[in-house]
Amino acid sequence: MKFDLFVIGAGSGGVRAARLAAAEGYSVGIAEGSRIGGTCVIRGCVPKKLMVYASEFKETFKDAIGYGWEISKVNFDWNKLRTARDKEVERLETAYRANLQKSGVKIFENFAKCVGPKLLELNDGTVIEAEHILLATGGIPKKPDFEGVDLTISSDEVFELGKLPKEILIYGGGYIACEFASIFKGLGSKVHLVYRGDSLLKGFDSDVRNTLTSEFINKDIQLTLNSTITSVKQENKKLRVDLADGQNFSVDEILCATGRKPNIDHLGLNRIGVQLKNGAISVDEYQKTNIPTISAIGDVTDRLNLTPVAIRDGIAFVNTIFKKNPTKPDHDLVPKAVFSQPEVGTVGITEEEAKKKLKLYKVYKTFFKPMKNQLALRDERVLIKIIVEKETDIVLGAHIVGYGAAELIQIVAITIKMGATKQDFDRTCAVHPTLAEELVTLN
Ligand code: NDP
Repeated sequence: MKFDLFVIGAGSGGVRAARLAAAEGYSVGIAEGSRIGGTCVIRGCVPKKLMVYASEFKETFKDAIGYGWEISKVNFDWNKLRTARDKEVERLETAYRANLQKSGVKIFENFAKCVGPKLLELNDGTVIEAEHILLATGGIPKKPDFEGVDLTISSDEVFELGKLPKEILIYGGGYIACEFASIFKGLGSKVHLVYRGDSLLKGFDSDVRNTLTSEFINKDIQLTLNSTITSVKQENKKLRVDLADGQNFSVDEILCATGRKPNIDHLGLNRIGVQLKNGAISVDEYQKTNIPTISAIGDVTDRLNLTPVAIRDGIAFVNTIFKKNPTKPDHDLVPKAVFSQPEVGTVGITEEEAKKKLKLYKVYKTFFKPMKNQLALRDERVLIKIIVEKETDIVLGAHIVGYGAAELIQIVAITIKMGATKQDFDRTCAVHPTLAEELVTLN
């Protein structure tokens, strides 16, 4: 069997590259050993966001009382959510498969490995020849090493839980930890979050980190900072967790949200000499590995591990190899969101980075209780912060914590990508009454 392009991994990046190359008239094959759609569709962004939506209702019901609603009884059914969520994921998987087939891509539902610069082998022994190979196998969860770590789950298994845990411990302070702490809290679990640092979301702007950390405390998420797990033991039907600071808890589940690593173990890379860097596939600025016929995109390269980035990596790869238009993926000013409660949206430079990189800069920020929360008797506050280079007046960073932050930051990112100045923000008329109007009235 022979193809112009063979892609390993049918996640967001691999599927986009395969379909685009096929649309150019090239013969394309794709191998997927798990489910078509990859992390984002099957066990990441999509099912997670559906759970986020489900978990937000609890506070909405509470808010409604302040607005005159009488709410007599609310009840959440884990199985109903699970069934509906899984059905939606299956629908998307079917659509991904159909779209690949419609584009003329041949799908191999099997694991594949490289056996030469232009040669692959599937698990069933099929040998495939390809002019170009694209590695798009994404990432997998990474767990630390402590006694009893096998008793914990990762973000892969969290979607398979048969029931809502009464009490859960989340380990880590990054994206997945913050999102699932909020999800389980909203759905009704008692939530402990144990993190080795002193403020959540390392690498984000310090005001964002402090705001989220204090909002988590206000929401009664049991935070233990500056600590680590030393052991987990099964005790009757519970899990006993011991921490380095001497504390211990008995919980029903422990979710390790301690990062992800590139999924490279069974790709045959050693054998054919594909170079790695810190455990990820090393690529040049055009996403080629040291072997000219083999390229890699997305999380397996561990550059910027986000779905829309992997998709754009895939587009850049097809432009470079099949459209004769060498394209470097643009990883600059990528907006990011954390779907915690409250939500976080961020783009560009943080205040800490500004301190290091800029001669003179100005920070504008506001921290306020939005109108909606007044009648709701909700204490939650919103943070809106922008960072401006003093010499040029250009807005180099924006950080939002509060409901709608993810939606808002998408729009703000356009203005920042265009090089908008603070004056541009100021001469834009406010939309009143909104939370977003604060963006154009900062002083
Ligand atoms: P993150 O890198 O965001 O967070 C990992 C957390 O685990 C950090 O708090 C880290 O601590 C901690 N940690 C790492 N190693 C250890 C250890 N040995 N012992 C104790 N704690 C440890 O990874 P996630 O797993 O949350 O998510 C993986 C990636 O997936 C994200 O980086 C992001 O790229 C992507 N993602 C994006 C989402 C989105 O766009 N909304 C949602 C979910 C995932 P420290 O901070 O001290 O390093």
